[in-house]
Amino acid sequence: MDFELSEAHKMLAESVYDFMLREIDPIAEQVDREDRLPDWVWKKLGQLGWMGVTVTEEYGGSGMDYLAQCICLEQMSRICPALSLSCHAHSNLCCDNLYRNGNEQQRRRYLPPLCSGEKLGALALTEPNAGSDAVGIQMRARREGRHYLLSGIKTFITNGPVAGAMVLYAKTEPEKGAKGITAFIVEPGLEGTFTARHLEKMGVRGSPTGELIFDEYRVPEENILGALNQGVSVMMGGLDMERVAGTGWTLGMGERALELSLKYARERVQFGQPIGQFQLIQEKLADMYIGMESAKLLMYRAATMAQTADRGGKGSEINKLAAAALLLAGQVSTQAVLHAVQIHGGYSYMLDYPVNRLLRDVKLGEIGAGTSEMRKIIIAREMLRG
Ligand SMILES: Cc1cc2nc3c(=O)[nH]c(=O)nc-3n(C[C@H](O)[C@H](O)[C@H](O)COP(=O)(O)OP(=O)(O)OC[C@H]3O[C@@H](n4cnc5c(N)ncnc54)[C@H](O)[C@@H]3O)c2cc1C
Repeated sequence: MDFELSEAHKMLAESVYDFMLREIDPIAEQVDREDRLPDWVWKKLGQLGWMGVTVTEEYGGSGMDYLAQCICLEQMSRICPALSLSCHAHSNLCCDNLYRNGNEQQRRRYLPPLCSGEKLGALALTEPNAGSDAVGIQMRARREGRHYLLSGIKTFITNGPVAGAMVLYAKTEPEKGAKGITAFIVEPGLEGTFTARHLEKMGVRGSPTGELIFDEYRVPEENILGALNQGVSVMMGGLDMERVAGTGWTLGMGERALELSLKYARERVQFGQPIGQFQLIQEKLADMYIGMESAKLLMYRAATMAQTADRGGKGSEINKLAAAALLLAGQVSTQAVLHAVQIHGGYSYMLDYPVNRLLRDVKLGEIGAGTSEMRKIIIAREMLRG
Protein backbone atom coordinates (compact mmCIF):
# COMPACT_ATOMS: atom_id res chain seq x y z
CA MET A 1 0.00 0.00 0.00
CA ASP A 2 1.54 3.30 -1.13
CA PHE A 3 0.24 6.47 0.53
CA GLU A 4 2.53 8.79 -1.46
CA LEU A 5 1.32 10.78 -4.44
CA SER A 6 3.13 10.06 -7.70
CA GLU A 7 5.71 12.59 -8.95
CA ALA A 8 3.26 13.65 -11.67
CA HIS A 9 0.51 14.34 -9.14
CA LYS A 10 2.92 16.24 -6.88
CA MET A 11 4.08 18.37 -9.80
CA LEU A 12 0.50 19.10 -10.79
CA ALA A 13 -0.34 20.19 -7.23
CA GLU A 14 2.66 22.49 -7.14
CA SER A 15 2.00 24.08 -10.50
CA VAL A 16 -1.71 24.68 -9.80
CA TYR A 17 -0.94 26.19 -6.39
CA ASP A 18 1.88 28.39 -7.81
CA PHE A 19 -0.41 29.71 -10.51
CA MET A 20 -3.22 30.41 -8.05
CA LEU A 21 -0.87 32.16 -5.62
CA ARG A 22 0.70 34.31 -8.33
CA GLU A 23 -2.30 35.17 -10.54
CA ILE A 24 -5.43 34.75 -8.45
CA ASP A 25 -4.53 35.42 -4.81
CA PRO A 26 -4.00 39.16 -5.46
CA ILE A 27 -7.55 39.46 -6.86
CA ALA A 28 -9.40 36.88 -4.72
CA GLU A 29 -10.88 39.45 -2.33
CA GLN A 30 -12.00 41.65 -5.23
CA VAL A 31 -13.61 38.64 -6.94
CA ASP A 32 -15.63 38.05 -3.75
CA ARG A 33 -16.67 41.69 -3.33
CA GLU A 34 -17.60 42.26 -6.98
CA ASP A 35 -19.04 38.77 -7.43
CA ARG A 36 -17.17 38.44 -10.70
CA LEU A 37 -14.24 36.40 -12.03
CA PRO A 38 -12.09 37.98 -14.77
CA ASP A 39 -12.95 36.83 -18.31
CA TRP A 40 -9.31 35.99 -19.17
CA VAL A 41 -9.10 33.24 -16.60
CA TRP A 42 -10.86 30.46 -18.52
CA LYS A 43 -8.63 30.55 -21.61
CA LYS A 44 -5.60 30.71 -19.32
CA LEU A 45 -6.76 27.62 -17.43
CA GLY A 46 -7.45 25.99 -20.80
CA GLN A 47 -3.86 26.66 -21.93
CA LEU A 48 -2.60 25.16 -18.70
CA GLY A 49 -4.67 22.01 -19.31
CA TRP A 50 -6.97 22.30 -16.27
CA MET A 51 -10.30 22.76 -18.04
CA GLY A 52 -10.65 19.20 -19.32
CA VAL A 53 -8.50 17.26 -16.88
CA THR A 54 -10.03 13.79 -17.40
CA VAL A 55 -10.79 14.20 -21.11
CA THR A 56 -8.30 12.51 -23.45
CA GLU A 57 -5.96 14.58 -25.61
CA GLU A 58 -7.69 13.75 -28.90
CA TYR A 59 -10.65 15.87 -27.74
CA GLY A 60 -8.48 18.69 -26.37
CA GLY A 61 -8.21 17.46 -22.77
CA SER A 62 -5.21 16.54 -20.63
CA GLY A 63 -5.90 12.80 -20.29
CA MET A 64 -5.25 12.74 -16.57
CA ASP A 65 -7.07 10.72 -13.90
CA TYR A 66 -9.70 11.52 -11.24
CA LEU A 67 -7.02 11.91 -8.61
CA ALA A 68 -5.48 14.66 -10.76
CA GLN A 69 -8.93 16.27 -11.01
CA CYS A 70 -9.24 16.21 -7.20
CA ILE A 71 -5.75 17.65 -6.74
CA CYS A 72 -6.40 20.43 -9.24
CA LEU A 73 -9.59 21.56 -7.50
CA GLU A 74 -8.04 21.15 -4.03
CA GLN A 75 -5.16 23.48 -4.90
CA MET A 76 -7.48 26.01 -6.55
CA SER A 77 -9.74 26.03 -3.49
CA ARG A 78 -6.84 26.88 -1.19
CA ILE A 79 -6.75 30.30 -2.88
CA CYS A 80 -10.14 30.91 -4.53
CA PRO A 81 -13.00 28.43 -3.91
CA ALA A 82 -15.23 30.40 -6.31
CA LEU A 83 -12.88 29.88 -9.25
CA SER A 84 -12.43 26.26 -8.20
CA LEU A 85 -16.21 25.70 -8.07
CA SER A 86 -16.73 27.06 -11.57
CA CYS A 87 -13.85 24.93 -12.79
CA HIS A 88 -15.40 21.90 -11.04
CA ALA A 89 -18.78 22.45 -12.72
CA HIS A 90 -17.04 22.94 -16.05
CA SER A 91 -14.37 20.24 -16.14
CA ASN A 92 -16.08 17.54 -14.10
CA LEU A 93 -19.86 18.01 -14.20
CA CYS A 94 -19.93 19.07 -17.84
CA CYS A 95 -16.77 17.91 -19.69
CA ASP A 96 -16.24 14.59 -17.88
CA ASN A 97 -19.93 13.71 -18.26
CA LEU A 98 -19.87 14.61 -21.95
CA TYR A 99 -16.71 12.62 -22.46
CA ARG A 100 -17.99 9.50 -20.68
CA ASN A 101 -21.47 9.50 -22.23
CA GLY A 102 -21.12 11.37 -25.51
CA ASN A 103 -20.93 9.73 -28.94
CA GLU A 104 -18.05 10.49 -31.28
CA GLN A 105 -19.85 13.34 -33.03
CA GLN A 106 -20.83 15.00 -29.71
CA ARG A 107 -17.32 14.65 -28.30
CA ARG A 108 -15.75 16.20 -31.42
CA ARG A 109 -18.24 19.06 -31.52
CA TYR A 110 -18.38 20.09 -27.87
CA LEU A 111 -15.22 19.03 -26.05
CA PRO A 112 -12.41 20.96 -27.86
CA PRO A 113 -13.90 24.46 -27.27
CA LEU A 114 -14.74 23.49 -23.68
CA CYS A 115 -11.28 22.10 -22.90
CA SER A 116 -9.58 25.18 -24.38
CA GLY A 117 -11.69 27.48 -22.19
CA GLU A 118 -13.27 29.14 -25.21
CA LYS A 119 -16.63 28.02 -23.82
CA LEU A 120 -17.66 27.47 -20.23
CA GLY A 121 -19.67 24.36 -19.33
CA ALA A 122 -22.40 23.66 -16.77
CA LEU A 123 -24.72 20.91 -15.59
CA ALA A 124 -28.41 21.66 -15.01
CA LEU A 125 -30.21 19.18 -12.78
CA THR A 126 -31.69 21.07 -9.80
CA GLU A 127 -35.11 22.71 -10.07
CA PRO A 128 -37.07 24.89 -7.65
CA ASN A 129 -39.08 21.84 -6.49
CA ALA A 130 -36.50 19.10 -7.07
CA GLY A 131 -33.16 19.24 -5.23
CA SER A 132 -32.42 16.15 -3.12
CA ASP A 133 -35.25 14.40 -4.94
CA ALA A 134 -33.39 14.66 -8.23
CA VAL A 135 -35.55 12.22 -10.17
CA GLY A 136 -38.57 14.36 -9.22
CA ILE A 137 -37.60 16.96 -11.84
CA GLN A 138 -40.48 18.51 -13.75
CA MET A 139 -38.72 20.00 -16.77
CA ARG A 140 -40.44 18.62 -19.82
CA ALA A 141 -38.87 17.67 -23.17
CA ARG A 142 -41.68 17.23 -25.69
CA ARG A 143 -40.88 15.58 -29.00
CA GLU A 144 -41.76 17.43 -32.21
CA GLY A 145 -40.40 15.84 -35.37
CA ARG A 146 -36.62 15.55 -35.04
CA HIS A 147 -36.48 18.02 -32.14
CA TYR A 148 -37.34 18.19 -28.44
CA LEU A 149 -38.98 21.28 -26.94
CA LEU A 150 -37.69 22.01 -23.42
CA SER A 151 -40.00 23.78 -20.96
CA GLY A 152 -39.36 24.35 -17.26
CA ILE A 153 -37.00 25.99 -14.75
CA LYS A 154 -33.54 25.00 -13.53
CA THR A 155 -32.05 26.75 -10.53
CA PHE A 156 -28.76 27.16 -8.63
CA ILE A 157 -26.85 26.24 -11.82
CA THR A 158 -23.12 26.98 -11.51
CA ASN A 159 -21.88 28.79 -14.65
CA GLY A 160 -25.50 28.72 -15.90
CA PRO A 161 -25.73 32.41 -16.86
CA VAL A 162 -22.56 32.27 -18.98
CA ALA A 163 -22.43 28.64 -20.14
CA GLY A 164 -21.68 27.91 -23.79
CA ALA A 165 -22.77 24.28 -23.36
CA MET A 166 -24.51 22.35 -20.62
CA VAL A 167 -25.70 18.88 -19.73
CA LEU A 168 -29.38 19.15 -18.81
CA TYR A 169 -31.88 16.59 -17.52
CA ALA A 170 -35.53 16.64 -18.53
CA LYS A 171 -38.52 14.28 -18.58
CA THR A 172 -39.22 12.87 -22.01
CA GLU A 173 -41.90 10.51 -20.65
CA PRO A 174 -43.08 12.01 -17.34
CA GLU A 175 -45.54 9.18 -16.67
CA LYS A 176 -42.60 6.74 -16.43
CA GLY A 177 -41.00 8.68 -13.53
CA ALA A 178 -37.26 8.02 -13.21
CA LYS A 179 -37.41 5.81 -16.33
CA GLY A 180 -38.66 8.75 -18.40
CA ILE A 181 -35.65 11.05 -17.83
CA THR A 182 -33.27 11.91 -20.68
CA ALA A 183 -29.99 13.86 -20.61
CA PHE A 184 -29.50 16.54 -23.29
CA ILE A 185 -26.63 18.74 -24.43
CA VAL A 186 -28.00 22.28 -24.54
CA GLU A 187 -26.36 25.43 -25.83
CA PRO A 188 -27.55 29.02 -26.12
CA GLY A 189 -28.63 30.43 -29.47
CA LEU A 190 -31.03 27.68 -30.54
CA GLU A 191 -34.69 28.39 -31.37
CA GLY A 192 -37.28 29.14 -28.68
CA THR A 193 -36.96 31.03 -25.40
CA PHE A 194 -34.16 30.47 -22.89
CA THR A 195 -33.39 33.15 -20.29
CA ALA A 196 -30.85 33.16 -17.47
CA ARG A 197 -31.02 35.15 -14.22
CA HIS A 198 -27.90 35.72 -12.12
CA LEU A 199 -28.46 34.74 -8.46
CA GLU A 200 -26.74 36.65 -5.60
CA LYS A 201 -25.04 34.34 -3.08
CA MET A 202 -23.50 34.61 0.38
CA GLY A 203 -20.44 32.58 -0.61
CA VAL A 204 -18.41 31.36 -3.59
CA ARG A 205 -19.07 34.83 -4.98
CA GLY A 206 -17.53 35.25 -8.40
CA SER A 207 -18.69 31.83 -9.50
CA PRO A 208 -21.79 32.69 -11.56
CA THR A 209 -24.94 30.89 -10.40
CA GLY A 210 -28.17 31.10 -12.32
CA GLU A 211 -31.82 30.34 -12.66
CA LEU A 212 -32.56 29.20 -16.20
CA ILE A 213 -36.03 29.42 -17.70
CA PHE A 214 -36.86 27.41 -20.82
CA ASP A 215 -40.03 27.91 -22.84
CA GLU A 216 -40.35 25.53 -25.79
CA TYR A 217 -36.58 25.75 -26.35
CA ARG A 218 -35.75 23.66 -29.42
CA VAL A 219 -32.99 21.07 -29.09
CA PRO A 220 -32.19 18.66 -31.98
CA GLU A 221 -32.55 14.95 -31.23
CA GLU A 222 -28.86 14.36 -31.95
CA ASN A 223 -28.20 16.29 -28.71
CA ILE A 224 -29.52 13.46 -26.55
CA LEU A 225 -26.63 12.42 -24.30
CA GLY A 226 -26.62 8.65 -23.80
CA ALA A 227 -29.91 7.03 -24.75
CA LEU A 228 -33.53 8.23 -24.71
CA ASN A 229 -35.11 7.66 -21.26
CA GLN A 230 -31.76 6.47 -19.85
CA GLY A 231 -30.88 9.81 -18.26
CA VAL A 232 -30.84 8.40 -14.73
CA SER A 233 -27.78 6.26 -15.44
CA VAL A 234 -25.98 9.34 -16.84
CA MET A 235 -27.12 11.28 -13.76
CA MET A 236 -26.10 8.69 -11.14
CA GLY A 237 -22.72 7.92 -12.74
CA GLY A 238 -22.11 11.66 -13.00
CA LEU A 239 -23.02 12.26 -9.36
CA ASP A 240 -20.48 9.66 -8.22
CA MET A 241 -17.71 11.43 -10.16
CA GLU A 242 -18.98 14.82 -8.98
CA ARG A 243 -18.72 13.68 -5.35
CA VAL A 244 -15.18 12.37 -5.84
CA ALA A 245 -13.99 15.61 -7.49
CA GLY A 246 -16.02 17.70 -5.04
CA THR A 247 -13.97 16.18 -2.23
CA GLY A 248 -10.91 17.99 -3.58
CA TRP A 249 -12.88 21.24 -3.95
CA THR A 250 -14.05 20.99 -0.33
CA LEU A 251 -10.76 19.90 1.28
CA GLY A 252 -8.79 22.80 -0.21
CA MET A 253 -10.78 25.18 2.03
CA GLY A 254 -10.11 23.16 5.20
CA GLU A 255 -6.41 23.09 4.36
CA ARG A 256 -6.33 26.86 3.89
CA ALA A 257 -8.08 27.26 7.24
CA LEU A 258 -5.35 25.22 8.93
CA GLU A 259 -2.54 27.15 7.18
CA LEU A 260 -4.01 30.52 8.19
CA SER A 261 -4.59 29.30 11.75
CA LEU A 262 -1.01 28.05 12.19
CA LYS A 263 0.35 31.36 10.97
CA TYR A 264 -1.94 33.37 13.24
CA ALA A 265 -1.30 31.12 16.27
CA ARG A 266 2.44 31.77 15.88
CA GLU A 267 2.07 35.54 15.41
CA ARG A 268 -0.77 36.66 17.69
CA VAL A 269 0.45 37.42 21.19
CA GLN A 270 -1.84 37.53 24.23
CA PHE A 271 -0.86 37.26 27.89
CA GLY A 272 2.75 37.77 26.79
CA GLN A 273 2.95 34.70 24.55
CA PRO A 274 1.83 33.51 21.08
CA ILE A 275 -1.70 32.08 21.36
CA GLY A 276 -0.34 28.84 19.81
CA GLN A 277 1.17 28.15 23.23
CA PHE A 278 -2.29 27.79 24.79
CA GLN A 279 -3.48 24.20 24.91
CA LEU A 280 -7.07 25.04 23.91
CA ILE A 281 -5.72 26.55 20.68
CA GLN A 282 -3.43 23.53 20.19
CA GLU A 283 -6.41 21.21 20.53
CA LYS A 284 -8.15 22.98 17.65
CA LEU A 285 -5.03 22.80 15.48
CA ALA A 286 -4.65 19.08 16.22
CA ASP A 287 -8.33 18.43 15.40
CA MET A 288 -7.95 20.26 12.09
CA TYR A 289 -4.85 18.24 11.18
CA ILE A 290 -6.52 14.90 11.98
CA GLY A 291 -9.63 15.84 10.00
CA MET A 292 -7.68 16.95 6.95
CA GLU A 293 -5.34 13.96 6.90
CA SER A 294 -8.11 11.37 7.26
CA ALA A 295 -10.36 13.00 4.66
CA LYS A 296 -7.45 13.27 2.24
CA LEU A 297 -6.74 9.53 2.51
CA LEU A 298 -10.40 8.76 1.81
CA MET A 299 -10.29 11.10 -1.19
CA TYR A 300 -7.20 9.32 -2.57
CA ARG A 301 -8.98 5.96 -2.22
CA ALA A 302 -12.25 7.16 -3.77
CA ALA A 303 -10.43 8.88 -6.66
CA THR A 304 -8.38 5.75 -7.35
CA MET A 305 -11.47 3.58 -7.31
CA ALA A 306 -13.34 6.05 -9.56
CA GLN A 307 -10.75 5.36 -12.22
CA THR A 308 -11.53 1.63 -12.39
CA ALA A 309 -15.26 2.00 -11.63
CA ASP A 310 -15.40 4.27 -14.66
CA ARG A 311 -14.28 1.34 -16.78
CA GLY A 312 -17.35 -0.66 -15.79
CA GLY A 313 -16.15 -1.90 -12.39
CA LYS A 314 -17.67 -1.71 -8.95
CA GLY A 315 -20.88 0.26 -9.30
CA SER A 316 -22.27 0.47 -5.78
CA GLU A 317 -18.87 0.46 -4.09
CA ILE A 318 -17.89 3.77 -5.71
CA ASN A 319 -21.38 5.07 -4.97
CA LYS A 320 -20.81 4.47 -1.25
CA LEU A 321 -17.17 5.53 -1.16
CA ALA A 322 -17.68 8.74 -3.16
CA ALA A 323 -20.53 9.75 -0.83
CA ALA A 324 -18.38 8.92 2.22
CA ALA A 325 -15.36 10.87 0.95
CA LEU A 326 -17.43 14.00 0.27
CA LEU A 327 -19.38 13.65 3.52
CA LEU A 328 -16.20 13.52 5.57
CA ALA A 329 -14.53 16.30 3.57
CA GLY A 330 -17.56 18.55 4.14
CA GLN A 331 -17.65 17.85 7.87
CA VAL A 332 -13.94 18.29 8.59
CA SER A 333 -13.50 21.32 6.32
CA THR A 334 -16.47 23.14 7.84
CA GLN A 335 -15.16 22.32 11.33
CA ALA A 336 -11.66 23.46 10.36
CA VAL A 337 -12.98 26.80 9.08
CA LEU A 338 -15.06 27.28 12.26
CA HIS A 339 -11.92 26.61 14.33
CA ALA A 340 -9.97 29.07 12.16
CA VAL A 341 -12.59 31.76 12.77
CA GLN A 342 -12.40 31.14 16.53
CA ILE A 343 -8.59 31.24 16.50
CA HIS A 344 -8.65 34.57 14.63
CA GLY A 345 -11.05 36.03 17.23
CA GLY A 346 -12.58 39.42 16.34
CA TYR A 347 -10.29 39.86 13.33
CA SER A 348 -12.09 36.98 11.61
CA TYR A 349 -15.13 39.29 11.32
CA MET A 350 -13.19 41.86 9.31
CA LEU A 351 -13.81 41.56 5.58
CA ASP A 352 -10.12 41.91 4.71
CA TYR A 353 -9.30 38.69 6.61
CA PRO A 354 -9.73 35.69 4.29
CA VAL A 355 -11.15 33.42 7.02
CA ASN A 356 -14.55 35.11 6.83
CA ARG A 357 -14.70 34.43 3.10
CA LEU A 358 -13.79 30.80 3.78
CA LEU A 359 -16.66 30.55 6.27
CA ARG A 360 -19.16 31.77 3.66
CA ASP A 361 -17.67 29.48 1.00
CA VAL A 362 -17.14 26.22 2.89
CA LYS A 363 -20.74 25.49 3.87
CA LEU A 364 -21.56 24.61 0.28
CA GLY A 365 -19.38 21.52 0.78
CA GLU A 366 -22.20 20.07 2.91
CA ILE A 367 -24.99 21.03 0.49
CA GLY A 368 -23.99 20.59 -3.18
CA ALA A 369 -23.76 17.21 -4.97
CA GLY A 370 -26.30 15.77 -2.52
CA THR A 371 -26.53 17.17 1.01
CA SER A 372 -24.76 15.52 3.96
CA GLU A 373 -28.06 13.87 4.83
CA MET A 374 -28.42 12.39 1.34
CA ARG A 375 -24.82 11.16 1.40
CA LYS A 376 -25.51 9.28 4.65
CA ILE A 377 -28.66 7.77 3.12
CA ILE A 378 -26.63 6.56 0.10
CA ILE A 379 -23.93 5.01 2.30
CA ALA A 380 -26.44 3.17 4.50
CA ARG A 381 -28.53 2.05 1.50
CA GLU A 382 -25.51 0.56 -0.25
CA MET A 383 -24.35 -1.26 2.91
CA LEU A 384 -27.82 -2.68 3.58
CA ARG A 385 -28.04 -3.85 -0.01
CA GLY A 386 -25.22 -6.18 1.00
C1 LIG B 1 -23.87 27.60 -4.84
C2 LIG B 1 -24.63 26.42 -5.38
C3 LIG B 1 -24.25 25.86 -6.59
C4 LIG B 1 -24.97 24.79 -7.13
N1 LIG B 1 -24.63 24.30 -8.36
C5 LIG B 1 -25.44 23.41 -8.96
C6 LIG B 1 -25.21 23.00 -10.33
O1 LIG B 1 -24.24 23.42 -10.97
N2 LIG B 1 -26.09 22.16 -10.92
C7 LIG B 1 -27.19 21.67 -10.25
O2 LIG B 1 -27.95 20.92 -10.86
N3 LIG B 1 -27.42 22.00 -8.95
C8 LIG B 1 -26.58 22.86 -8.30
N4 LIG B 1 -26.82 23.23 -7.00
C9 LIG B 1 -27.96 22.66 -6.30
C10 LIG B 1 -27.60 21.66 -5.19
O3 LIG B 1 -27.16 20.45 -5.74
C11 LIG B 1 -28.85 21.51 -4.31
O4 LIG B 1 -29.00 22.72 -3.58
C12 LIG B 1 -28.78 20.33 -3.37
O5 LIG B 1 -28.86 19.12 -4.08
C13 LIG B 1 -29.90 20.35 -2.32
O6 LIG B 1 -31.14 20.55 -2.90
P1 LIG B 1 -32.12 21.69 -2.32
O7 LIG B 1 -31.32 22.93 -2.19
O8 LIG B 1 -33.35 21.73 -3.14
O9 LIG B 1 -32.48 21.20 -0.84
P2 LIG B 1 -33.68 20.20 -0.42
O10 LIG B 1 -33.61 18.95 -1.22
O11 LIG B 1 -34.96 20.94 -0.41
O12 LIG B 1 -33.26 19.85 1.08
C14 LIG B 1 -33.59 20.70 2.20
C15 LIG B 1 -33.14 19.96 3.47
O13 LIG B 1 -33.89 18.75 3.61
C16 LIG B 1 -33.00 17.64 3.74
N5 LIG B 1 -33.60 16.46 3.11
C17 LIG B 1 -34.14 16.34 1.88
N6 LIG B 1 -34.54 15.09 1.66
C18 LIG B 1 -34.23 14.37 2.77
C19 LIG B 1 -34.37 13.00 3.17
N7 LIG B 1 -34.89 12.08 2.35
N8 LIG B 1 -33.95 12.64 4.41
C20 LIG B 1 -33.38 13.55 5.25
N9 LIG B 1 -33.21 14.85 4.92
C21 LIG B 1 -33.62 15.25 3.71
C22 LIG B 1 -31.73 18.07 3.02
O14 LIG B 1 -30.61 17.32 3.46
C23 LIG B 1 -31.65 19.54 3.43
O15 LIG B 1 -31.09 19.64 4.71
C24 LIG B 1 -26.07 24.25 -6.42
C25 LIG B 1 -26.43 24.79 -5.16
C26 LIG B 1 -25.73 25.86 -4.66
C27 LIG B 1 -26.16 26.44 -3.32
